[in-house]
Amino acid sequence: MVEIRDLHKSFGALEVLRGIDFTVDQGQVICIIGPSGSGKSTLLRCVNLLETPTRGQVFVEGEELTHPDVDIDAARRRVGMVFQQFNLFPHLKVLENVTIAQRRVLKRGKAEAEKVARDNLAKVGLADKAGSYPAQLSGGQQQRVAIARALAMNPDLMLFDEPTSALDPELVGDVLAVMRQLAEEGMTMLVVTHEMGFAREVADRVVFMDGGVIVEEGPPEQVIGDPQEDRTRTFLRRVL
Ligand code: ATP
Ligand code: MG
Repeated sequence: MVEIRDLHKSFGALEVLRGIDFTVDQGQVICIIGPSGSGKSTLLRCVNLLETPTRGQVFVEGEELTHPDVDIDAARRRVGMVFQQFNLFPHLKVLENVTIAQRRVLKRGKAEAEKVARDNLAKVGLADKAGSYPAQLSGGQQQRVAIARALAMNPDLMLFDEPTSALDPELVGDVLAVMRQLAEEGMTMLVVTHEMGFAREVADRVVFMDGGVIVEEGPPEQVIGDPQEDRTRTFLRRVL
């Protein structure tokens, strides 16, 4: 489903990703953990080509996104992304936030786009907020709109970059519940998170990154429950 081969990314002299290899099978949930600055966001951004890797390859469903001839827009369409900051359009109602890319990018008609939007808003528990503006919603609700917006594009793969880090603690659970439900439905997901409970319960594999490399990866009961590397243990001691 997703294959990353020898991925490198430098910003000037700073080598942020120093050879990342891993694969994600269809329907798997991978949680990526690691200290600040370890390259987690950069890795996700390379997977949907918000950053151009310096070296290495990214394949999604067998198509090499890093190939020079790839249609970047078509490739990006297959990958949904949810950020720490929800990035909703403040001047558009929720329904319009969820239809705008469907209409402009996928060229769906108004009625179809609105139906898809309402279906996905219902899925994230916000059927009754279609007519609200983002500022009228809580952070957790805004983040669920952002998830609905990404899902409305029918992605093959969803990337989440610390989707609950900007939320008040009492709002985190609703967003995690939506992500958990998506995982159960079989969505392929790459999730950067500090929510170790979520990683333990939902992830098929946990990847621990430090200094631009994967230090350790495996099932959560191994990487979180019984880490083999000192760097992983030190990190977990700080976050658990
Ligand atoms: P955090 O947990 O704080 O989000 P992270 O693991 O996501 O950290 P990245 O955001 O991937 O880390 O950043 C890794 C390194 O790359 C950092 O040193 C950062 O300053 C640097 N970096 C990221 N983006 C850029 C950029 N556009 N230009 C220059 N340096 C960058
Ligand atoms: Mg980050």
